[in-house]
Amino acid sequence: MQRRPIKDFTVAIVGGGMCGLVCGIGLARQGIDVKIFESTAKFAEVGAGVALSPNALRPLRSLGLLDTVLKLINIEDVKQDGFRVIAVNGDHEFIHDPPEVDTSRFDPEKQGFGIYRPTFLAALLPLVDPNNVFFNKRVTTTSLLPSGQHRIFFSDGTTYDADVIVGADGIKSTVRSSVVESGPEGRIGFSNTYAYRGVMPVDALKAAGVKVAVEARPLLWIGFCRHMATYPIDGRTLLNVAAMSRSKEYGAPVSPQEPGSWVEAVDQQEMLDAFEGSGDDLMTILKHIVKPSRWALHTLYPPLKTYVKDRVVLVGDAAHAMVPYLGAGVGQGFEDVYVLCRLLAHPKITKDNLNATLALYDNLRRPRANMILEKSLEAAQISQGFGPEKNSIEVTREKLREREDSEWHKNLVDHDLDREITNALESF
Ligand SMILES: Cc1cc2nc3c(=O)[nH]c(=O)nc-3n(C[C@H](O)[C@H](O)[C@H](O)COP(=O)(O)OP(=O)(O)OC[C@H]3O[C@@H](n4cnc5c(N)ncnc54)[C@H](O)[C@@H]3O)c2cc1C
Repeated sequence: MQRRPIKDFTVAIVGGGMCGLVCGIGLARQGIDVKIFESTAKFAEVGAGVALSPNALRPLRSLGLLDTVLKLINIEDVKQDGFRVIAVNGDHEFIHDPPEVDTSRFDPEKQGFGIYRPTFLAALLPLVDPNNVFFNKRVTTTSLLPSGQHRIFFSDGTTYDADVIVGADGIKSTVRSSVVESGPEGRIGFSNTYAYRGVMPVDALKAAGVKVAVEARPLLWIGFCRHMATYPIDGRTLLNVAAMSRSKEYGAPVSPQEPGSWVEAVDQQEMLDAFEGSGDDLMTILKHIVKPSRWALHTLYPPLKTYVKDRVVLVGDAAHAMVPYLGAGVGQGFEDVYVLCRLLAHPKITKDNLNATLALYDNLRRPRANMILEKSLEAAQISQGFGPEKNSIEVTREKLREREDSEWHKNLVDHDLDREITNALESF
């Protein structure tokens, strides 16, 4: 049964990816009239894992969604230490461990976990009211009406009017063009790196002779112009793999967006050639990606100067698509969604002060998310700069320690979002 809306305004979310979905559930639970418009025929996630950091889990917990997700997984099997750093080549020499956290009991304040994306989706779908979701609805543009509402135009010729439009339509966002001018701002850039992704049974890797304990904890395998992130999912029975290889020299600036599709099926040999010279375990893992797909990793670059115009607001990758080297994209997206839910649900907020409320959202979210976008790009300097060509093991360790000790890095997962929102609302 639908609750009677408690607010005098309506919200339309464009895009039903992880951020749009959480936003839709979060706003509906606050009693706000919200609809989700998704261009595809159903909700779907790629068959890969996603590492959810503590700052991704806290918003889920506060929105009452974390327990629902935890019911579908055995947390003892997936709760994670930080990424241990090892070498891509040779015998995969140990390089660095992050500060230890107590993993004897699960604490979403301190630990994240890796989850298969379709499992995450399966947990949330029962919480979505099907009356509020519209599939095969590709948004082409939006326009501001004299009433202050916005009109959404769909490729099937229909329209929908709402007081607030949330652009959760990913890196290639259409809604973004309603927020920022076309031109250099909001440009999508190619990070000069391709990712090959795969999920494989841990048992098969062991049987094939992999010696590194890939099931024990997340691993970051680093080298020169290449790196790989692995972590166990699904009760440590499966290994999620993302292997990154540069297409241009170390340190080359972000390139123009790649033409055509960013995800392509490629020959396994192409992937193996890209990692030639790496150590045996890494190559064995890659050989288990039988039909690799190659993802051209893009980033919004430079970061947006605003996430809001009038009553159109961007969240998730639409606002700050970043390279995945810090595993921070979803965390930043969930922070956006949580801030938006708390602001819009607050008793002070009505249709009359929506513009000021969304400006507050922009002030709260943009500096932090844009900073993490830039730090994500910078992270390649360490993870793709290890080897005789660039950084020695000592230099690499020093750089990793420096990063861990930096305020921004500590704040990446420790950030007190609730206090920030409460303070902002007090002065509103
Ligand atoms: C290789 C790789 C590994 C990653 N690993 C991690 C990780 O471990 N941890 C992490 O936190 N992040 C990771 N990320 C980043 C993370 O995947 C993204 O930040 C996150 O999925 C963004 O979610 P979103 O909902 O904002 O966008 P999306 O997931 O892109 O969803 C956008 C939705 O909008 C719909 N849509 C698009 N255009 C329209 C339109 N015009 N009209 C209507 N609907 C539309 C799409 O169909 C889609 O459903 C990784 C990214 C990559 C590429």
